[in-house]
Amino acid sequence: MTLTNRPDLPAEIARRRTFAIISHPDAGKTTLTEKFLLFGGAIQMAGQVRAKGEARRTRSDFMKMEQERGISVSASAMSFDYGKFRFNLVDTPGHSDFSEDTYRTITAVDAAIMVIDGAKGVESQTRKLFEVCRLRDLPILTFCNKMDRESRDTFEIIDEIQENLAIDVAPASWPIGMGRDFLGAYDLIHDRLEIMDRADRNRVAETIRISGIDDPKLAEHVPPHQLEKLREEIEMARELLPQFDRQSFLEGHLTPIWFGSAINSFGVRELMDGMAEYGPAPQPQTAAERQIAPEEPRVTGFVFKVQANMDPKHRDRVAFVRMASGHFERGMKLLHVRSRKQMAISNPVLFLAADRELAEEAWAGDIIGIPNHGQLRIGDALTEGEALRFTGIPSFAPELLQSVRATDPMKAKHLEKALMQFAEEGAAKVFKPQIGSGFIVGVVGVLQFEVLASRIELEYGIPVRFEGSQFTSARWLTGPQDKVEAFANVNKQHMATDHDGDLVYLTRLQWDIDRVTRDHPELRLTATKEMM
Ligand code: GDP
Repeated sequence: MTLTNRPDLPAEIARRRTFAIISHPDAGKTTLTEKFLLFGGAIQMAGQVRAKGEARRTRSDFMKMEQERGISVSASAMSFDYGKFRFNLVDTPGHSDFSEDTYRTITAVDAAIMVIDGAKGVESQTRKLFEVCRLRDLPILTFCNKMDRESRDTFEIIDEIQENLAIDVAPASWPIGMGRDFLGAYDLIHDRLEIMDRADRNRVAETIRISGIDDPKLAEHVPPHQLEKLREEIEMARELLPQFDRQSFLEGHLTPIWFGSAINSFGVRELMDGMAEYGPAPQPQTAAERQIAPEEPRVTGFVFKVQANMDPKHRDRVAFVRMASGHFERGMKLLHVRSRKQMAISNPVLFLAADRELAEEAWAGDIIGIPNHGQLRIGDALTEGEALRFTGIPSFAPELLQSVRATDPMKAKHLEKALMQFAEEGAAKVFKPQIGSGFIVGVVGVLQFEVLASRIELEYGIPVRFEGSQFTSARWLTGPQDKVEAFANVNKQHMATDHDGDLVYLTRLQWDIDRVTRDHPELRLTATKEMM
């Protein structure tokens, strides 16, 4: 076993920024991501993300659905350099039906960028995703997009965020005009004027140094009526709104906001600079045993996502691992803590833009993909020997249950295998009732049944039918072993096991849960279970 005591470890960690972009569908996340990659030098021309997305979609028709629905179902991670920084951007699924996946993605990042549409403000999905970030006190940078369209008044937008999300908002830039009159923004942090280039959407805005809001130079670039308004608004903003405070931002109490237009590449660089300059370096991770500091020389990491069948021809599975500490080198042998087996990590992949590349090395904070045959599951730890269990990667009780069967009874056995794979991937909960045959599948959002049905058919060639189930909810059952067994015996018609073999109590009504809680105080019914 090698102890990678690299002197450059602290510097490599310090230059890393691992984050996610959260937004309501249509606010501009894809466009912004594309511009990030463009300015990060990962792609040559904006438009490639979609083009590559197309290529990726041909890998499986499941992805086609993603395209038709205009939702992104699968999270992936992309790495690229920005100046002297290394950005790891973890993509979050944007649809509310995939909140569990999103939650796990959030466990792998240190910060988030919240994109809102300047005309729409805080939308339902923005709020949900924000709440997930708040559970972990993640620092959040806000990008108010589409300022080239008619948008709301700047103060109104800021107020709405403050009130709706209960977070202080400090303007990092101030927009000048909107819609057709949108000229650019005043950079309040650096006292610069940024003028949007309407001719070339992929070009960075022109920057003009200004020595404060009273600088006469402003008048050369901003028409009088807009200038007067700008000066008034900035004066008011400085009086009424919070100032940027890094500590408060890092603690998740304050978000800096930039105003821009992703499609016109406007404000994107300032946002990226903000992430580089103020964003957190990789943070310590929590295990049941202790905190793991990124600077520790020994490599540790945890699986936060498993994606099966990315390439249906190979039936491969990729486990996405967030490196929690140390310097990893390709070929290293790591302990797979759950199975207590050594694994040689010989073909890890880094996702550079939409391409896969062999990862020769990775540092704490990075995300690598490890192809495997199902050994790696969500929540699993990889270490250089220490038996760590990372915490905080929950599995939620599904909110919707349906029974599933193959339309061709001959394929029942294959169906079981397919279902187990999806359960391990975290795409659904699969319960095997103790009485009768067949399976009950649980999901968090109703669209997931459709996604599953189409994946089972496409990836395994098994047409299936989902049908209503008498059960509506599921709870994991724990307590003293004899009590659990006694209870399970009497309530056989409610009992099932999940894919890990853990006991689950299926319920028809909330009343069932209340009854058990009242009559069996020694037992615990829980709606989440830590995955490890
Ligand atoms: P996502 O669903 O959040 O990923 O949003 P997209 O990036 O796909 O953008 C949704 C729509 O808004 C697309 O038609 C984009 O071209 C458009 N869009 C994105 N950014 C801007 C912008 O700054 N201004 C305008 N006018 N449209 C934009």
